[in-house]
Amino acid sequence: MPKQRILTGTRPTGSLHLGHYAGALENWVRLQDEYECFFLIADYQALSDHLGEIERIRESVIEVTLDWLAVGLDPHRSAFVIQSYIPEHAELTMLLSMLVPLNRHQRNPTLKAEMAQLEEENAELSLGFFNYPASQIADIILPKAHLVPVGEDQAPHIEYTRQIARRFNRAYGEVFPIPRALIGRVPRLVGLDGKAKMSKSLDNAIYLSDGAGTVERKVKRMVTDITGTHPRLRPTDPGVVEYNPVFEYHDAFNPDAAEVADLKERYRAGRVSDSEVKERLIKALNDFLDPIRERRAAYAARPDDVRAALLDGTGRARRTAEQTMQEVREAMRIIYT
Ligand code: ATP
Ligand code: MG
Repeated sequence: MPKQRILTGTRPTGSLHLGHYAGALENWVRLQDEYECFFLIADYQALSDHLGEIERIRESVIEVTLDWLAVGLDPHRSAFVIQSYIPEHAELTMLLSMLVPLNRHQRNPTLKAEMAQLEEENAELSLGFFNYPASQIADIILPKAHLVPVGEDQAPHIEYTRQIARRFNRAYGEVFPIPRALIGRVPRLVGLDGKAKMSKSLDNAIYLSDGAGTVERKVKRMVTDITGTHPRLRPTDPGVVEYNPVFEYHDAFNPDAAEVADLKERYRAGRVSDSEVKERLIKALNDFLDPIRERRAAYAARPDDVRAALLDGTGRARRTAEQTMQEVREAMRIIYT
């Protein structure tokens, strides 16, 4: 039996952060043996709202690759794929755009939220951005993926992919598997500022490549009360643990469950300071990040290996993409001679 396939990825719009790790990367690393994996660097999709920042995208392609290598993705087992090097992504996106009902597209909640955010920043909204969910569907079904490990914000896109893949299969015959989403251990990691999602765009992240001093500075500035209704002024004030970002990070990244339980108990009772809880978090995060930093530095010193990983994976994905597009053209009978 050939292995089932995974397609998932990231936009090269910056380095990867703790939210990526707990929401997605951790599953990717774990599933590399069980599945044939395609990890996509979605540079077309990055251009949809960062068209004027091509240098940032170019740097981020390498940064993301270093982050992937650092957390233990293995370019020999898994294919690292540059989206724009495989024109079939654009071709299938275009064909799928014919199949996607406009009113269904306009209802996508993740797209709506992101468009609202861009509008708030007075950014110009491109047609390419509006169409990115269709391009994401093409990304997923091009290698005929069965599983898509992602953070919770992506769930509507996967549901959308399932609908469109079914629609294609009904219209033209069974070409595509219907992919399932797999949401990570922490579905949506909160930001340092208490906003619902740690995100590159919101500048509220701890990056996998942050040094120990940066982590310390960021944690010290973290909000502990997202509502602003329970200000805790003294260590003797009873504190609220629920929806407290500092405790959410402890739960996500501190392996010492007994320590976390003890801190929570003392926090609720007013027997520990915010700064002690933060000190313990700084230690836990730096312990977690140290081996990642070491592996990252080792790969950063070998840029030829990093480039080879990208080109090799992209080559493998391209052959798969060409096969699928041949099947798509035959199924749709877009053959005239
Ligand atoms: P951008 O703001 O550029 O969209 P992003 O931080 O949302 O950046 P993506 O490249 O869009 O990053 O996301 C890559 C993967 O990481 C997706 O599967 C996404 O669901 C997941 N992810 C991103 N942020 C978080 C988070 N805070 N918690 C859990 N998962 C996350
Ligand atoms: Mg995103």
